[in-house]
Amino acid sequence: MARYTESVCRICRREGQKLFLKGDRCYTDKCALTRRAYAPGQHGQGRRKLSEYGTQLREKQKVRRAYGILEGQFEHYFEMANKKEGVTGENLLSLLESRLDNVVYKLGMAVSRPEARQLVSHAHFTVNGKKVNIPSYLVKPGDVIALREKSRSSAKFEAVLNSTEGRIVPKWLDMNRETMEGRVVALADREDIDLPIEEHLIVEYYSK
Ligand code: SF4
Repeated sequence: MARYTESVCRICRREGQKLFLKGDRCYTDKCALTRRAYAPGQHGQGRRKLSEYGTQLREKQKVRRAYGILEGQFEHYFEMANKKEGVTGENLLSLLESRLDNVVYKLGMAVSRPEARQLVSHAHFTVNGKKVNIPSYLVKPGDVIALREKSRSSAKFEAVLNSTEGRIVPKWLDMNRETMEGRVVALADREDIDLPIEEHLIVEYYSK
């Protein structure tokens, strides 16, 4: 599947917001956005006034890139959110949070969403005891996500756990770092989303 090949820090700089795509580095003053808080490229430091459409497009792109999702799949999530009862924008964010790669990241079993996607693809996790290697797999309340037995002793996960020590697991999830098992307590609410997102702009973008 086609994926982004540009530096992930360029994505943050283009969107003008930290999207936490690089793990530890994002929390230090080595963060590219901290050092160069303007868009990449020749005209990056120029002022730009966005049209209404441009603002909506940028918000959609920001969220899509934060979760590492391709255009078609993001549109599909929007359609799913639109069909569900409730507020479409909030439904959309809840769906995105339910992706297995995001859940692995939020449980502290990966330092970033891109890393979580890779670890899930490499079949390091089970859901309810069954191997799942699909990053877009949508979890539901009651699901148990666990690091596979044979992955537990790897140096990779030791490093990940050191790095994520102290990270606060959101209240809709429950993590046991002794057994390396996490449980989905509930679906994520709007208040559980920690990135600053104006989801109404995304709804407006797709409503044209
Ligand atoms: Fe974004 Fe992290 Fe790079 Fe900073 S270090 S620009 S937050 S990916």
